[in-house]
Amino acid sequence: MQVKTQLDELQNYLIDASNLPGGHAEKLFIPETAQEIAEILKQAGESSIPVTISGARTGTVGGAIPFGGHVISLERFNAIKEINRENRYAVVGSGVLLTDLQKAVEAENLFYPPDPTEWSCQIGGTVATNASGARSFKYGATRRFVRRMEVVLPGGEIVNLKRGETFSENGFINFNSANAGAIKIKLPTYAQPDVRKNTSGYFSGDSVDAIDLFIGSEGTLGVITEVELDLLPKPEGFLSGIVFFKDEKDLLDFVDQARRLSFQTRAGSNQSQKTANQNSIDATLIEYFDGNSLRFIAEKFSQVPSDAKGAIFFEQETNAETEDVLFEQWNTLLEKHNADTEASWFTTTEQDLIRMREFRHALPVSVNERIVRYKQRKIGTDMAVPDEHFASFLRFYKDKLNESGLDYVIFGHIGDNHLHANILPKDESEARKAKHLYGRFIAQSVMLGGTISAEHGIGKLKSKYLNVMYGERYLNEMAELKRQFDPKGILSRDNMFEAKLLGV
Ligand SMILES: Cc1cc2nc3c(=O)[nH]c(=O)nc-3n(C[C@H](O)[C@H](O)[C@H](O)COP(=O)(O)OP(=O)(O)OC[C@H]3O[C@@H](n4cnc5c(N)ncnc54)[C@H](O)[C@@H]3O)c2cc1C
Repeated sequence: MQVKTQLDELQNYLIDASNLPGGHAEKLFIPETAQEIAEILKQAGESSIPVTISGARTGTVGGAIPFGGHVISLERFNAIKEINRENRYAVVGSGVLLTDLQKAVEAENLFYPPDPTEWSCQIGGTVATNASGARSFKYGATRRFVRRMEVVLPGGEIVNLKRGETFSENGFINFNSANAGAIKIKLPTYAQPDVRKNTSGYFSGDSVDAIDLFIGSEGTLGVITEVELDLLPKPEGFLSGIVFFKDEKDLLDFVDQARRLSFQTRAGSNQSQKTANQNSIDATLIEYFDGNSLRFIAEKFSQVPSDAKGAIFFEQETNAETEDVLFEQWNTLLEKHNADTEASWFTTTEQDLIRMREFRHALPVSVNERIVRYKQRKIGTDMAVPDEHFASFLRFYKDKLNESGLDYVIFGHIGDNHLHANILPKDESEARKAKHLYGRFIAQSVMLGGTISAEHGIGKLKSKYLNVMYGERYLNEMAELKRQFDPKGILSRDNMFEAKLLGV
């Protein structure tokens, strides 16, 4: 195991994609075995030294940024241990990069769908944040694919958790650890918000699978060292389209119907045990770009029509038999909702699909160029609301942003009622206004029964808002859960909620 203490050696481990400043640490450990991690945690516990877990540091909420103490990097847990083609699963060290897993899995004609568009992240990081992405509309978030994990608890116990093996009963759950015997834990009692994606706080429910407690726990309950993941057969092909609309109502009606048809198809498939050869609409992703986003993209893609009020990027699995009939069905739906089909763009070829991904990628690139130009930070939302409130929430975003006079773009996973509003301040005064608006969006999403974070997590940046969503009682229940695993609060201190709630 490598141990580093020099500032220049630690520098890269003090930042992540959040740009949260002030990270500092005394020691960096780069262990190679779970036993080494157990030893580091036991010793840190004895001296009450905080320990931060470092994946690839692509997180956007400061979860991997240390504020004192030790850092444990998982980079040496980078072995792809098994890809089982027949039974469709993979066993990987938690430090394996998503891009490496995707390549290895594809080589076996298999498919690992969770895809947060940032492929340099580690599998452990994606499990700890329950990462999701565009294709989560059909396949779900990371949680759905985790079937087993090895995790080192803050006290140094090494635990193996298998999905379906241990469930909570009457609000308590029992863990069996190899070196500390049975551990009985009391769970929080709040209900999850009625949304399709949620990464705000610990998983809860009537009958919680032990493994689900760790997925999305943002490094606060243990260090994930090994993960076994479900895989799917690799789709034969995809039909994709980028379609423009001149009227926002048409666009929203189109999304509504595409979503309903997709759910209907899935329900029908489940009943007849059919997963492939579908010949009805069943989108893998439905992504949205508002008019402002299109103006940014137009800087790089001149074919964006100047009168477009918004665009949708959709995709569906196809094969040689279903390609034509599916194209017909999407086309009929688009025409019904007055899409600008002349200007729109459809493909089933890999080459064109790459170009479509570039189209999508042109937005963050142009937005980032703009942010750098004004030396400001963008203020980005990650909220999702229940189906019935989505249209009014989008209206609220747009009304408030237009009233404010601030520049903004709204884009993202409209299939899951989950859009990112990025506010782009030009100076300090606009930045203050943007932060104020962000607070109003949080309040509105909570009022509508939504979540303050649907995919990026809470980390250190959003912990103050978790109180708005859950209130003091449930925040205390979360702290109580954490205290049972980690009485001194050494692990991932200040992630999700402030350490003072733990009394440390
Ligand atoms: C351009 C860009 C786009 C993104 N888009 C999306 C998106 O669409 N959807 C989405 O969900 N996310 C997105 N993300 C963020 C996403 O959270 C991360 O990409 C990823 O899930 C975190 O992995 P990581 O290895 O970088 O973890 P880190 O950033 O290093 O850590 C994230 C958190 O997990 C903890 N952690 C890391 N490894 C472990 C481990 N082995 N055991 C326990 N805890 C651990 C850390 O302590 C920290 O709290 C995006 C990020 C970027 C930069």
